[in-house]
Amino acid sequence: MNSPNSTENLTICSAKGCRADAVWVLAWNNPKLHTPDRRKTWLACEEHREHLSQFLGVRGFLKDVVALEEWEASASGR
Ligand SMILES: [Zn+2]
Repeated sequence: MNSPNSTENLTICSAKGCRADAVWVLAWNNPKLHTPDRRKTWLACEEHREHLSQFLGVRGFLKDVVALEEWEASASGR
């Protein structure tokens, strides 16, 4: 694997080196790069949810943490 942080269309944890199945979606936004309504997403396994949300949280980027099931349900539900 040579794209460790690619999260598109994968349900693997976004933490570096982690290959566990993701169970959480972290929705975030960097106001310097993104318009306010834009959401980037990282996926996290149970173990890395706190680590990744802290990483985003201290930068003020973290907007939402949603269970992957709920995220997919709301994304495909309309
Ligand atoms: Zn992980």
